This record gives sequence, structure tokens and C-alpha cells, in this order.
Amino acid sequence: MDPERLLQCPYDKTHQIRACRFPYHLVKCRENNRKAAAELATCPYNARHKVPKRELQLHVATCSNNPAETEAPFPPKTELKEMPGAWQCPPCQEDWEADADGPGAAAPFHLGSRENHPVGTPQRFSKCP
Ligand SMILES: [Zn+2]
Ligand SMILES: [Zn+2]
Repeated sequence: MDPERLLQCPYDKTHQIRACRFPYHLVKCRENNRKAAAELATCPYNARHKVPKRELQLHVATCSNNPAETEAPFPPKTELKEMPGAWQCPPCQEDWEADADGPGAAAPFHLGSRENHPVGTPQRFSKCP
């Protein structure tokens, strides 16, 4: 969520709070609005989300912590999903290189010694097609 995005305080509709300050404001504002706070429901996905009871359903439907919402096929989120897959292999290879070169980094000619120390490298390597 954009931290600069203005959110409306559930306790006082005249309060517009930046998203990054929202949790702090809620705590503070709740103290000043105990009666209104009593009318609030807590989001089932994030305890920091306090919404008026009548708005809870709407909130749950749009809550960023709602797993159903997270799986919605929005293009940006789909992109994010694909990234780990395309992203796993290079680090994995680097890992194995670092592992293999780590102990014998100063001695790259010790190819033979590498075979004498099969620190699980064949398994690691097979992870990366
Ligand atoms: Zn407020
Ligand atoms: Zn929520």
C-alpha cells in the first residue's frame, strides 16, 4: 500500500491520516473516541484493522491481508508471483558456486579436491535445470 495514501479515520470522518501513520493514529484516536471504538469491529485478517461494524464486510472484501484478495488475478500481483520462479535459479547457482569456490576460492585448480568434498553439491545442482 502507498504509505502516503490518505485513509479516513474510522473514529472521526474528518480525520485523514497517511497510511504509514494510520496504526498510530488509530491507537491515539481510539482513546479519544471510546464510544465510537465500541462500535468498531476488528478485521479477521489483520488485528490492526479497525473498521465500523457496518463497514466490516466491505473492508474484508478489500482487505490487503485477505488471502482471497491476494490471489486475485491482478496483473501486478501475477507478475510478483512469477518473479520468485524466475528468480530462484540464479541465486541457487550462485550459492553453489560460492559453496564450491568458498573453501578453495584461492585455489581454483583444485578441481580434484572438489570431488573429494561432495558437500551435497550434486543435489544442489540438480535443483537448477
Ligand atoms: Zn482519528
Ligand atoms: Zn483488514
